[in-house]
Amino acid sequence: MSSTHVSAEFRRLVRDRAYGCCEYCGISEKAAFAMHEVDHVVAEKHGGQTVASNLALCCTLCNRRKGSDLSSIDPETGEIANLFHPRKDIWSDHFRLEGALIRPLTPIGRATVHLLRLNAEARLTERAALRPGTG
Ligand SMILES: [Zn+2]
Repeated sequence: MSSTHVSAEFRRLVRDRAYGCCEYCGISEKAAFAMHEVDHVVAEKHGGQTVASNLALCCTLCNRRKGSDLSSIDPETGEIANLFHPRKDIWSDHFRLEGALIRPLTPIGRATVHLLRLNAEARLTERAALRPGTG
């Protein structure tokens, strides 16, 4: 969640860099119910700054679930795991899209899918509806 005002230039940079898609769940802004938000990957309360290397495009659902968290629990091992960091981590290293399902491949993937509820029923339905004609 961001509290600091993010300038229009930053918003444009972040949106263009992400091709208009949430950098966590991949949903396009055009398909979402609300405008995507600019997420501070490391929240300001943890010292994260409003700089390009700490900003990511994030849908409202992912942003609300993520809040200011940096880590969560890997549901498979019960160990603390970092959340996916869109500026440092590569999506396909940690997740694989199987139909509408986002399959986690690593502790980072599992913690992120779990905390952000990337495979909640409504979100699967939403992604499934987008499959035809999307690339
Ligand atoms: Zn999302």
